[in-house]
Amino acid sequence: MKKLQYERPVIQRLNVGLMNKFGTKTEYNPCTHIDGNAVKDLITKHGSPLFVMSEKTIRQTFKDAKRAFKTRYPKVQFAWSYKTNYINAVCHVFHQEGSWAEVVSGFEYNKALKNNVPGDKIIFNGPDKTEAELRLAIQNNSLIHIDHLDELYLLIELATELNIRPRVAIRVNMDTGIYPMWDRFGFNYENGQAWDAINKIMLNDKMELLGLHAHIGTFMLAPSAYGIAAKKLSDLALNIKKKYKKNIQYIDMGGGFASKNTLKGSYLQGADTSPDFDQYAEAISSSILNAGFVEDELPLLILETGRALIDEAGYLLGTVLSNKRLSDGRRATIMDFGVNILFTAFWYEHKISPAQDFSQYTEDAVLYGPLCMNIDVIRENVTLPPLKRNDQVVVHMVGAYNMTQWMQFIALRPAVVMIDMEEKVHVIRSCETIESIEHNEILPPYLKNFKL
Ligand SMILES: *Cc1c(COP(=O)(O)O)cnc(C)c1O
Repeated sequence: MKKLQYERPVIQRLNVGLMNKFGTKTEYNPCTHIDGNAVKDLITKHGSPLFVMSEKTIRQTFKDAKRAFKTRYPKVQFAWSYKTNYINAVCHVFHQEGSWAEVVSGFEYNKALKNNVPGDKIIFNGPDKTEAELRLAIQNNSLIHIDHLDELYLLIELATELNIRPRVAIRVNMDTGIYPMWDRFGFNYENGQAWDAINKIMLNDKMELLGLHAHIGTFMLAPSAYGIAAKKLSDLALNIKKKYKKNIQYIDMGGGFASKNTLKGSYLQGADTSPDFDQYAEAISSSILNAGFVEDELPLLILETGRALIDEAGYLLGTVLSNKRLSDGRRATIMDFGVNILFTAFWYEHKISPAQDFSQYTEDAVLYGPLCMNIDVIRENVTLPPLKRNDQVVVHMVGAYNMTQWMQFIALRPAVVMIDMEEKVHVIRSCETIESIEHNEILPPYLKNFKL
């Protein structure tokens, strides 16, 4: 018989408060393997902490999203939101699945070009496009989504100078019944700014208005908001048709679909509350199909969904550094990864699983990262089995935004590996080194020497 492992006794603190009517979920099954690879082996080979991407999950999730939209609407195109995760291997999986690129800066634009995305399949969004970047985008025939009037006038100037008609869309913001309203990007629908911008483009005739774009928010839990947005964009398109006899070729609904993560303070688990792709697809396609387009003039539907396509495919593996008792009696566990690489810990109650077997006992704990900063909290309150030094954990659903918003603060950023369809492991970003960090530093010679 296998010798049972010793586990120290725990004292359970009884918290007075409302019972959750759904009872506590026993989600604490150990997570020992990811796509056939032992967590222990991954950490031994690639270090701790370690980000792991599952190619299988990316492709499955993408196929599910594509099915949801293609079964409801005849013309659908996805464009991968680079800022959500722009590690090249990840972008390439999406491009292999047929996604165009959606970028919001010159840096991301050049990344997409370097990834061999054809210029006319790059959507250039955002308020920050320099004159040089706009020139490049015009010459590459990219889809430029205009954010404000200054950009619109600059484009007219550049179009005249280059003698090319840029392919453009305008970004429209609107009231979709959700609060807070995102009105800082693009032109407002209700106050007439959007229609004004459309007239300025159509009457000037230096640019080709191909599309209408909206990105109404992020982690949107109400599919109905997309229905309203799609209706408003469709109405604009139909008004353009009426006034100028011109068909708008695409409606771009942006991204913002919720992933299955649990938002902080949420009563229910994200897996139980986040709408699925079918619900978003239903709201959007019904709106456009019923708006009044004649059959062969239905616009192409573009989607720039980011987090909902990639969150579940990402894991963060880490190791326990130590345990301590806080002065108020709470147990604290200190991990070797912090908010520097897990930015989304500020918004989500990330699900965390021990990576090794344990008994049935659990205890409430605070999970801290290793930074010398009070804000470095991974989970303010989590129920986990007692973890010991060197025990390993798996943080789930970290594929969106962490590998782009991470910062090199106090510690170096860890490696990222991808597990392919055959369950083989590939390093897709090696861990940083002191050399890679100092690569851009220049020490003036006069500061070189000192005597202590
Ligand atoms: C960030 C962004 C997206 C992707 O948003 P998600 O919330 O990750 O789906 C899409 N379009 C634009 C314009 C964006 O800025």
